[in-house]
Amino acid sequence: MRASVLSAPGVCSVQDVPAPVAAAGEVVVDVERVGVCGTDVEFFTGEMAYLHDGHAHFPMQLGHEWAGTVSAVGDGVDPGWIGRRVMGDTMLGDGTCRRCRRGHQHVCEHRTEVGIRGGRPGALAEQLAVPATSLHALPDSVDAVLGALVEPGGNSWRAAQAADLQPGDRALILGPGTIGLLTAMFAQAAGAEVHLMGRSESSLAFARSIGFTNAWTEDHLPTLPYDAVIDASNAAPLPAKALSLVEPAGRVVYIGLAGSPSEIDTRRLALKDVTAVGILSASPGLDPTIAAYASGAVDPRPLVAATVGLDQVGAVLAGKPLPGAGPGPKIHIDPRL
Ligand SMILES: [Zn+2]
Repeated sequence: MRASVLSAPGVCSVQDVPAPVAAAGEVVVDVERVGVCGTDVEFFTGEMAYLHDGHAHFPMQLGHEWAGTVSAVGDGVDPGWIGRRVMGDTMLGDGTCRRCRRGHQHVCEHRTEVGIRGGRPGALAEQLAVPATSLHALPDSVDAVLGALVEPGGNSWRAAQAADLQPGDRALILGPGTIGLLTAMFAQAAGAEVHLMGRSESSLAFARSIGFTNAWTEDHLPTLPYDAVIDASNAAPLPAKALSLVEPAGRVVYIGLAGSPSEIDTRRLALKDVTAVGILSASPGLDPTIAAYASGAVDPRPLVAATVGLDQVGAVLAGKPLPGAGPGPKIHIDPRL
């Protein structure tokens, strides 16, 4: 089968590789759509931490935001999965340790991550093998485009949920990228007044174009009581900024990761009686995200700027402009193109 292989930083090509076979407990999925995200770009640049702590090494097959149809099952898997449209959890815990037994497989010390960690090949290929236990079935109303947006959506659903927003609360989201905008959508669906802060005028203009009129640069951010501040940026100073901006007794949510330590003063956290929450992964948010997309409560389609074939993955990871691409932050890959 054809797969996009990242063999070294900056070296990405489509190669013929052996098609996956469904091992016991696993399924093979015919991949229909894959989102490219910031983590993939970090592997392309070679900056991703897992490359340096031994959790990942080249060559890699990226792709963890995917949707497709099950085409084969291994021993011990219900054959009823065949033909079903699915997406899958990125995080694959060992299923046996204390954290996994307590339902926290997404932070299992021995976890692999599809297309990210532990040598588990990702979805930037015609086919993908994953454990059946990681599958989430997609209803008919959630097509492949929406299905490939469930993984980033699950992260964002959790961020919005952690902000504990009530109707009429005011939420500020730092960083209007895919995760920030999806979080804004979930916060709006919860009835909050949503503000976004960003650096680039083009990303703020895009946020306004999809209805988030309260989109500001740092210099123009209005001085208002923000009941929750969610950092979805990769800027090291913004976690502390989130804490300084949030209302006392409010919530700060940290889902962004900077390339260098981003420190906060816990005296301020205590003196403001603020609740702070960190978020890693979509796992506990996948089903509620599928439900929100299925009902239309959240429609993330405008975020997709373009859909291209595997041969364009290298260009996408390098950040090259794609002819005809829209202004959204997300690029999708269709391995069948
Ligand atoms: Zn475990």
